[in-house]
Amino acid sequence: MTNRPNSIRNLAWAVVGDGAEPRHVYRRNVDLLLKDGRIVEITPAGARPAEANEPALDGSGMLALPGLINIHSHPTTEPGYRGVREDHGVPEQQMTGLIERLQAFRLDKDGQSAAAVMSYSEMLRAGTTTACDVTVPFDGWLDTMVQSGMRFYAGPTFASARWGMSAPQTVTWRWDEAAGVAAFDKAKAVMAEAESHNSGRLGTLVFPAQIDTVTPELFAAARRHADESGRLFSTHIGQAVVEVREMIRRHGTTPVQWAAAQGLLKADTILAHCILLDEHPQIRWHTAKDLDLIAEAGASVAHCPQPFARYGLAMDHVGRYRTRGVNVGLGTDCAPHNLVEEMRLAIHAARLMSETVASLDSATAFEAATIGGAKALGRDDIGVLAPGKLADIVLVDLAHPLMQPARDPLRSFVFHAADRAVRTVLVGGEVVLQDGAPLHLDPAAAMERLAEAQARMLRDSPQRDYAQRAAEEIAPLSLPVV
Ligand SMILES: [Zn+2]
Repeated sequence: MTNRPNSIRNLAWAVVGDGAEPRHVYRRNVDLLLKDGRIVEITPAGARPAEANEPALDGSGMLALPGLINIHSHPTTEPGYRGVREDHGVPEQQMTGLIERLQAFRLDKDGQSAAAVMSYSEMLRAGTTTACDVTVPFDGWLDTMVQSGMRFYAGPTFASARWGMSAPQTVTWRWDEAAGVAAFDKAKAVMAEAESHNSGRLGTLVFPAQIDTVTPELFAAARRHADESGRLFSTHIGQAVVEVREMIRRHGTTPVQWAAAQGLLKADTILAHCILLDEHPQIRWHTAKDLDLIAEAGASVAHCPQPFARYGLAMDHVGRYRTRGVNVGLGTDCAPHNLVEEMRLAIHAARLMSETVASLDSATAFEAATIGGAKALGRDDIGVLAPGKLADIVLVDLAHPLMQPARDPLRSFVFHAADRAVRTVLVGGEVVLQDGAPLHLDPAAAMERLAEAQARMLRDSPQRDYAQRAAEEIAPLSLPVV
């Protein structure tokens, strides 16, 4: 089989673009004709027969989807928390375990580079072809992205303060403004390096780490830099009740209203996660304008339901965000980096919060994971399968038992089979996942390195934790070992 086919033949089903405004529709029995990494034509199967020796991919028995777009993730750290964070929460902080975990547990550089390989493999297996990867930068990070064959937006983070805790109910911000400025300089150098890479698959995000850990001056400098460089702008906002309360204490207003007043919100802005807005039941601030401010700015929300659901928290509710005019894309934030599971959870969480099926369904969740993500990234060449678009294509095996009966294969994929039925993934016309395995990454070797790094991370928690607790005390195993 060729890794750069000129066509994908005899597809049983395809989700393709329709009309000038991006919109997905089904087509049956089609061929996708490819050239120079793009789709040139979508024809009825056999209408333009393959020439002799033409490198063609057999699409029979397959559903073709546009590659999924993950607009917020932390691939270089999250697999290190597998078995650590899933049941962990701090009751005194409305259950968020974010701050306690980051203080007590830190993966070292070797662990981070192994985690990247594991995460990128997870992403490809679940049909993700473009992802925003947010982390404190380290040597080799960009190289692993390039090696994977995927498209990435690198978001090297910087912050003026570091979170900590001195007691379960007391979060602290340790400020070091000079360190924040130095980290911003480093981030600019890393972004320049990413953009100069000749793969053409790396973009960048200007990423001040969190709304509550960056000084107003550094936020202003970052915003100015994004305006001048044309780079995307993103930050974490509305992700914890303690963050919202602290911002109200500092500024008398919610994080979103503060960000809007500072001019931080624009059409190039991706806000992760905007769960805890003024109207959210856990905030109940006296205003009701956060959502409209986001919509008026044309900013996008990176919706990552999984980490919040684990704390007992949910967006209220994603259907309302969409009808109020906010562009919503999906991200994973935590491991597993499976955007299909994220679509399903987004649907369930939306319905639980809204008490209606209409809040989000298979089509609208899939739209968020493709068209919504592309819009957030300011791109019109990905997110749909149509002539002229990049050939970022996922082939799903309709013969998988969880896809059958394939009456409505998108529903089968989102609600039933997910990554289990993904067979082949192409990025820019090149096969990068084949028979469910990534071609350019070695997750088996990374697995061992990650397990060793996780053991070191857990061993060192008493030196990092505010109460010098062992990892077993902070995050006990789910069952006792007897
Ligand atoms: Zn995040």
